[in-house]
This record gives sequence, structure tokens and C-alpha cells, in this order.
Amino acid sequence: MRWSLSAPIRVWTCLLMLLAVLLASGCSDPDTLVEIHGSTMGTTYSIKLVELPLSLTADTLKAQLDARLDAVNGLMSTYRPDSELSRFNASRSTDWFPVDPELADLVARAQSISALSDGAFDITVGPLVNLWGFGPDAHPFRVPDPQTIEKVRARVGHDKLDVRDQPPALRKHHPELYVDLSAIAKGYGVDQLADLLDRLGATAYLAEIGGELMARGNKPGGQPWRIAIERPDATSRTVYRIVTLEDDAMATSGDYRNFYEKDGQIYSHTIDPGTGRPVAHALASVTVITENCATADALATTFLVLGPERGLALAESLGIGAFFVSRVGDDYAHSATTAFEASVSEKGLRVSHLED
Ligand code: ADP
Ligand code: MG
Repeated sequence: MRWSLSAPIRVWTCLLMLLAVLLASGCSDPDTLVEIHGSTMGTTYSIKLVELPLSLTADTLKAQLDARLDAVNGLMSTYRPDSELSRFNASRSTDWFPVDPELADLVARAQSISALSDGAFDITVGPLVNLWGFGPDAHPFRVPDPQTIEKVRARVGHDKLDVRDQPPALRKHHPELYVDLSAIAKGYGVDQLADLLDRLGATAYLAEIGGELMARGNKPGGQPWRIAIERPDATSRTVYRIVTLEDDAMATSGDYRNFYEKDGQIYSHTIDPGTGRPVAHALASVTVITENCATADALATTFLVLGPERGLALAESLGIGAFFVSRVGDDYAHSATTAFEASVSEKGLRVSHLED
């Protein structure tokens, strides 16, 4: 069984995700919010604004937001054969390949997260993602044999990729190296939407792509934005916790939305580069709250790869606000970093646990 990559399930998932955000954020005062919706990066985006920036209509603002997202996809999408990243992936040269500074910068940020996580986060993992039946070359699911996994691993590794900024360029050490920014691009897209909204003068909004989001200012009436962390369950969409955000970004990675199930075993789209296999531990979801959504997105994936103990230890040592939900039998247990708990007490009752 496969979830979420088939179009109807993906659309349904996005609608439910949107509903969770709506329930948590806007339901008290829906009429006073300006809402903009669109599609990007194989999912949906939404913006809720307390008021439109001066001299813009919802349509003219949407056109600007779409143009910015289109430019990001034109650089970074592995689903667009003509994107700059797809052209780099298709090239078999091991010489420097000139790229836009924006792409070089995001790759450099991804590489620094690989370094601090000992390679748990790895944007060269794409061939393994495809081998396991996810990604642009998706095929019917089968468990690959160990020799094939090892063969593919020979062309995977963040240390086989160089990036420089003067002049901006990428370089492969292996001609078949393939770069996949899926675990950071949605967060980056949210940061781009937020930057644009800030530049246009918007001061209070919620910007979201596929569940990764950025909150600024307050809702109408001065209340903070309230966001649901959902229960990591593939068969239902229920709220596990409500988080109150104030000028924060939030991203969640989980093994419960995009996976196959075969012979009682779950195969998730998050790959442990250390084994070449989908992650296999009790951790079901990780939510990260930081000021920057690209970082939150990448770190949520990183901690999910590392698992409940090593992930929590790294998040703690980095001083990152992170909330981990693990499966315990048929139930769930959670843990949070000191930074997450501290921001709860700093900002008053920031998290409420609905299930207590
Ligand atoms: P989601 O797309 O559900 O928000 P993530 O942000 O965790 O989830 O991104 C998952 C995607 O990242 C996968 O579909 C795959 O393309 C890529 N990926 C899988 N494993 C890794 C990894 N260890 N490091 C970086 N990217 C990964
Ligand atoms: Mg991610």
C-alpha cells in the first residue's frame, strides 16, 4: 500500500492539512483574514493575511507569490527536467557546473546540516529514494536486494559533492551523483514567500507550503497564530498538540504520510544514508520550531533519520526547539528539547496537550 504520492490521496492529504491549520488558526475570525491558495512543489500552499499590503489585491499578490515560487522551482525542482538542478543531475561532468547563487547557497546550507549530523541529512540520497520507489522515478514497490542497494550507495554521499560561491558552482566527484532538495525545498519556499510578504509590507500572516509554515505577527484581535501538531497516524487526521507561534517557522517530518506497507513492515520515504534503507525505528514524527523554515524543514528530516535518542541528543546539543512523537505499541509517547519547553514557558502557555 502506498500513501500520498498518488494525486487523489495527495490532494486529500493537503486539504486535511489545510483544515488542521485552519482549525488551529483562523476559525475564530475567518471573515477578517485574506486567504490565498495555490499549488507548488507537488503540494499546495496557503497564505492567510490580516490585511493586504498597500495597493495590492489578492490576485496581484498571488501573481507575485506564484512568480517567486516558479523561480525557486525553476532552479531546484527535480520534477522539472529543465530546472537548473535537473540539468546538473543530468550532466556526467565532474568539472565545476556554474549555477545561480541562490541554488549554490541552499546547497551549501544543506551540506552544513550534513556535516553537523554526520551525514544523516544527505541531499545526494535521491538514487536510493528512487530505488525504494519514491521520488521522480517512482515505480511499483518492491524491496530491493542488498547488492543493488550497495551498488546505488556507491554514487551517494554528501562528501561526493562540492559547492562554492565565488563564482557559484556545484561539482560532482562521481559522474552519476544526483542532488535532491526535497527535504529542505518546501521550507525554503516558505522563507521566500515570507521574505516577499515582508518586503511588500505585510506584518501579520501565516504562510504555508505542504504543512511547513511561517507565522508573523498576530491574528486579527491580537491573538497569536495557533497551529496543530497532528497525531502521526496514517488513517486519521487528529490533533496531538496545539502550538502557538510568534514570528517562528515550524516544520514536521514523519513516516506516516508517504510510505509503503508490505508484510506488516512500513517503508518510509526518509532514507537512512548509513544503511541505504528507509528509517526503521519507533520515531513517528519530529516537529522543529526555529526562526527559519528551510532550517526547520532540513532539521526535522535530520532528526527523523537519527531516531528518538540520537535525534533528541543532537537537537538538544544544538539548542533547537524540537518535539518528538514515538510509537509505543498502539499508542504514542512524546519528548521535547529544553529549547522547545523553554519557549513554551517564555511565551506563556504556548503548547496545550489536548489529550491529557
Ligand atoms: P515531507 O516531504 O513529507 O515534508 P521531508 O521534508 O522529510 O518530508 O522530505 C522527505 C524527502 O527528502 C524524501 O521524499 C526524499 O526525497 C528526501 N530524503 C529522504 N531521505 C533523506 C535524507 N536522509 N536526507 C535528505 N533528504 C532525504
Ligand atoms: Mg524536511
